[in-house]
Amino acid sequence: MIVSDRIIVDLTDNFARVGEPTDFKCECKLDDGLLPYPNAKLAKVEVRLKITYLKPNVLAEGTLRCHVEGFCDRCLTPVSRQIELPFCQTFYKDIADEDDGYVYSDSKMDATKAVCDEIALSVPSGLLCKEDCKGLCPKCGANLNEEQCDCDTSRDNAFAALKNLKF
Ligand SMILES: [Zn+2]
Ligand SMILES: [Zn+2]
Repeated sequence: MIVSDRIIVDLTDNFARVGEPTDFKCECKLDDGLLPYPNAKLAKVEVRLKITYLKPNVLAEGTLRCHVEGFCDRCLTPVSRQIELPFCQTFYKDIADEDDGYVYSDSKMDATKAVCDEIALSVPSGLLCKEDCKGLCPKCGANLNEEQCDCDTSRDNAFAALKNLKF
């Protein structure tokens, strides 16, 4: 499958069959900055949609599977995760003001912005290697999932350890 950075849906078949959903699939490479994680990349996004032409608007409904590659927010171990988001959006035919919704104008419908907005809005914050990750010792940097250190961490501040690490 071709990986592109735009999500273009060809509506030619849909225009011929009003109300009948068709399948749309693509893989794309979108901006890492869409993720709420400082230490992660959005390796790719798999887009799987049912596209229905509801004259004159177009309904796109399905899932976005985001492949995230990065490092745990607390202990910095590598984390690779697939986050699946539901997607449901109407694209309006030539509305005057784009602020009122997503627009398409001809048979090549660009869904990139709608997908990017959904990812930015819906990906849950916090990327952890496991739910109860103990993180790094803020004093000696030991990974507390793997070892116990003898530091006094009564004034625990995980950010202090993160600040000293370079990527
Ligand atoms: Zn962790
Ligand atoms: Zn320590």
